[in-house]
Amino acid sequence: MPPLQRYRKRRKAQEPNKNELKVARGEAETRHRTQAGTLRERFPHVTRLELDLRMVTPAGATLQQEHRLIQGGAPLLLDIPCQGGCGNGLFLLTQVVEEMLPVRQELREGMGLCQGISYADPKALCNTKLIYRIEASYSPTSSQS
Ligand SMILES: [Zn+2]
Repeated sequence: MPPLQRYRKRRKAQEPNKNELKVARGEAETRHRTQAGTLRERFPHVTRLELDLRMVTPAGATLQQEHRLIQGGAPLLLDIPCQGGCGNGLFLLTQVVEEMLPVRQELREGMGLCQGISYADPKALCNTKLIYRIEASYSPTSSQS
């Protein structure tokens, strides 16, 4: 066996964890803002959206706790800036909502981990957590018969 063979590692496709949120930089937020419509414009069958959010440091301290209610004409801007040690992380909760609303999912819980670069150590990731619970209410489906 030639020794070089050993270095041909097979690259495993990284499967993203469904519960993990993507985190982007500030520019993405600007892009999202300009594209964001209101809840009613984008998902007319959704009557209300309730979010429970908790942001937690890697050590477990709560940075932010928030309850949000979004209805009708409110803009669908759900990307949450990271309050941890990175300054530019963004939890892309809009994407989660965009996945659940078209299929009338009523409840979704999960967690995102900030992939921003830590201020304190440029070699480390921020790793601030966002724990979320999203509840959606839908208007009744039109008659089925
Ligand atoms: Zn962060």
